[in-house]
Amino acid sequence: MKTKAAFLEKPGKIEEKPLKIKELKLPELKENEVLIKVSACGVCRTDLHVVEGELGNVNNIVPGHEVVGTIERVGSEVKAQKTGDRVGVAWLYSSCGSCEYCLSGRENLCQNKKFTGFSKNGGYSEYIIADSGFIFNLPVGLKDEEIAPLLCSGAIGYRSFKLAHASPGSTITMFGFGGSAHLTLQLAKKLGHKVIIVSRNEEHLKLASELGADFTFSPKNGNIYENLKDKDIENAIIFAPSSVPIMNALKVIKPGGRVIVAGIHIDGEIKIDYDSQLFHEKLLLSVESYTRQDMLEYLRLATNLEIKPVYSDIKLEDVNSALTELKNSELMGVKVIKF
Ligand SMILES: [Zn+2]
Ligand SMILES: [Zn+2]
Repeated sequence: MKTKAAFLEKPGKIEEKPLKIKELKLPELKENEVLIKVSACGVCRTDLHVVEGELGNVNNIVPGHEVVGTIERVGSEVKAQKTGDRVGVAWLYSSCGSCEYCLSGRENLCQNKKFTGFSKNGGYSEYIIADSGFIFNLPVGLKDEEIAPLLCSGAIGYRSFKLAHASPGSTITMFGFGGSAHLTLQLAKKLGHKVIIVSRNEEHLKLASELGADFTFSPKNGNIYENLKDKDIENAIIFAPSSVPIMNALKVIKPGGRVIVAGIHIDGEIKIDYDSQLFHEKLLLSVESYTRQDMLEYLRLATNLEIKPVYSDIKLEDVNSALTELKNSELMGVKVIKF
């Protein structure tokens, strides 16, 4: 059986080495695997990191890890799903199941895990094979294209928000306003928080205001610390893939506050002045992916709170231009490949 897919031969700058659309042969289904006909796949910043080689030199792979589709076939041992189920496949393709992390429900930290669209072929493809133990039956109420971005952009934002331990009604600041932040802003607002968005992109700040941000600020308009220091900020989530906002955020949060870094890759070095950025029990914490428990919680919350992405549909053939727009911060919300 064959599938049409956007294929990465060798990583490099997206402008010079775009993904190639080609027909690939699908391998035989193993006993714990399912074959899914893909209906939607979100374009995530991590895909751009994969394509440009920032996560290591991965060759001959189909990116895409925000995948929604319908099960066409199940392996002989699969119990959790059946043919016809609508399911989601996300970044965590599988984990070992027997290490200290897997045994304690922290499979996101397993050192033998595999990733969709990185170590296994992902969802920039008409069909995908996935591990039955790591896919999600999806709630009714949201469209395929609306759910796809929730599976990574949304779920990472949710885990970041959860690890921030924000006290009820507190003020959270988010640095950067791409796919993940625009979903996490909605989550935080609907749970009763005040939200401040910091971004250099005026269009992004406009969208943030439309989605309910209480205050927006561009570093082009002045010093971040001077403008935010009196805003009673308890926590910050860093979505921009850069060390600069991390250092700024540590300075503006209140004593006891947390700075959560959502990105899988950060440009630049983090330099911390102990007195002004870390003392008074401030905490700096990175987020690695999500656990399956996080995803179940988040899909419930997103359905109940009606958290929906601002998105536009694209064709598989347009994925290179979507990745380029993402790189240049030209996207509003997210782009989703529709099959
Ligand atoms: Zn493990
Ligand atoms: Zn992602």
